[in-house]
Amino acid sequence: MDKIYLERYNGYARYVCTCCNHCNSKMGISYCSVKLRGCCSYFPKFELIDVHRMVKSMEGLHVLERIVNNPGTVVYNYYLHATGYFDREGYLNYLKNAQEEVDVKDKSIFFRACPFVKSGYGCTLPPAFRNYVCNFFICDEVMNNVDKSDVMRKYIEERSRYARWVQWENLSLERMLRENDLDFKRDFDGTISFLQDIPLDLYEFPCLEEINILDEDSKGA
Ligand code: SF4
Ligand code: SF4
Repeated sequence: MDKIYLERYNGYARYVCTCCNHCNSKMGISYCSVKLRGCCSYFPKFELIDVHRMVKSMEGLHVLERIVNNPGTVVYNYYLHATGYFDREGYLNYLKNAQEEVDVKDKSIFFRACPFVKSGYGCTLPPAFRNYVCNFFICDEVMNNVDKSDVMRKYIEERSRYARWVQWENLSLERMLRENDLDFKRDFDGTISFLQDIPLDLYEFPCLEEINILDEDSKGA
């Protein structure tokens, strides 16, 4: 039976949903050339808190290098945005035929793929260096199909609490950079060195009970 559980790293964590390996959700539909990519149609944004984690290890620095070298990455003052594949022509043709049967608001996601996803494999970035959205997103179809909805609510509450902390950390790091007249666009290397010297603040995740995802047999039980 598929499960949702919390996986912890050193001061970091993620929600693991085992059915993402064989995604059947609407958000996982792909009409683009990159098939079997789950909902990794998303173009990830790496904020200061993510880059701060990366610059603390060689492995993280290699990940940062990959992100910067991705042809679709745009460097902003306080974050990096990695854009990937988008089949615009396929999307426009699809819209002309107005296929409204799929209940997803932004249908462009069916024609997109993150630059770091590998078809049939998943994300090629180590979990500790993915951003908050990538590590904590679970689609509604899965969340509405679990055996313990009260525990699922706890997962959602904890995710919101963590998101507020992430926002606070990003603002604190940005303030420190501003005070030192630094940002990625004007002085990338200087900003990285500065972040390397700032200690990481760690977040304490509470224990969360494992949840089962119901399959057709267990729904009728
Ligand atoms: S979160 Fe949902 S849509 Fe995304 S890969 Fe997992 S099962 Fe698929
Ligand atoms: S960074 Fe990884 S988890 Fe996030 S969208 Fe891209 S492939 Fe998916």
